[in-house]
Amino acid sequence: MKTPLIVGQGLAGTCLAWEFLRRGVDFHITDLGKGGSTRVAAGLINPITGKNFEPSWRIADFYPQAIAFYRSLEEEFCENLWHPLPVLRLASSEKEWAKISMKLNLPEVRSWMGNAQEAPTGFLGGVELVGGGWLDTRKFLELSADRFRELGLWAETGSPHIRCEGAAGLISGSMGEHRCAKGEILTVRADWPETHIRIGAGGWLVPIGGGCFRIGSTYDWDNLDETPTTAGLDRITALAVKLGGEAFEIIAHVAGIRPILRRSQPLVGKDESEDWFFNGLGSKGTLYAPGMSAMLADWILDDTRPAPEFVFPDALS
Ligand SMILES: Cc1cc2nc3c(=O)[nH]c(=O)nc-3n(C[C@H](O)[C@H](O)[C@H](O)COP(=O)(O)OP(=O)(O)OC[C@H]3O[C@@H](n4cnc5c(N)ncnc54)[C@H](O)[C@@H]3O)c2cc1C
Repeated sequence: MKTPLIVGQGLAGTCLAWEFLRRGVDFHITDLGKGGSTRVAAGLINPITGKNFEPSWRIADFYPQAIAFYRSLEEEFCENLWHPLPVLRLASSEKEWAKISMKLNLPEVRSWMGNAQEAPTGFLGGVELVGGGWLDTRKFLELSADRFRELGLWAETGSPHIRCEGAAGLISGSMGEHRCAKGEILTVRADWPETHIRIGAGGWLVPIGGGCFRIGSTYDWDNLDETPTTAGLDRITALAVKLGGEAFEIIAHVAGIRPILRRSQPLVGKDESEDWFFNGLGSKGTLYAPGMSAMLADWILDDTRPAPEFVFPDALS
């Protein structure tokens, strides 16, 4: 194979680059150097998600791979990247609490259950989930970029291209219909408990150390830009009050665009010009990027085609 060029160094491109590096493949990688959703993401992994309180898609396969992958890079860099923290999933209404309670005995949910927890003021119930945590996505990108530069891998030449362009790639229309969504996040300083990630009221609160917390997020499918808004600020401020408390100091407000394809599943594939692509990490790139990268590397290098549910366009038909 010629020297391929990975276009885009977000979670997708970076994880794929590490797969190539570890398999001894000659490659180049490049990035626009600004924007992208990995640079703003909270890097959260929450095993049981959403209003319906369900395990993330294929979590049993992707979770162990993801944690092993980030741990191996911590050893490589001698730096902390993955911060495990239990999740406190909170219910705001009787209906929500009934839905959660109904699922607690399902085997696929029970395996993620932690200890009994009291719900904080303003919530009707709460359950502790193990296996959660957050990846320092920005540090992961920066350390990786430095290493790729040191190794002389940072260049704009190469073929075929492997497009890991995130939302920019989807918005340009290269994979047809998309459901990309803008999201905003606040970083605040506050005197709140740092023992759990709190999830409830349609948002999350992640302690990131040193009395700081990240809070999010919003979903906007119409205004696909990376500019923080007053409406976003108001919505997340209300979330902060609900999940943390009244007293906090805002230290940052950022926005990004989640790369979402129909069905919200990550996909890999090849386009008509024989370029490869890897996109659609959606709101859960931290969980899926390592496993999907390994799959794509197997396909590119060993011609092992993944199951149709991971391949574009097969998965969407
Ligand atoms: C507000 C918000 C909160 C989030 N929180 C979480 C979370 O808690 N947990 C989680 O798992 N996920 C979260 N996500 C989602 C996560 O950010 C994505 O799943 C993931 O980062 C996508 O990675 P990517 O590499 O596909 O895209 P990106 O990170 O967007 O990377 C694409 C890269 O390609 C580059 N690029 C594009 N076009 C070109 C080109 N032509 N030439 C060169 N470079 C190019 C861009 O500059 C960019 O760096 C969040 C997203 C947002 C917006």
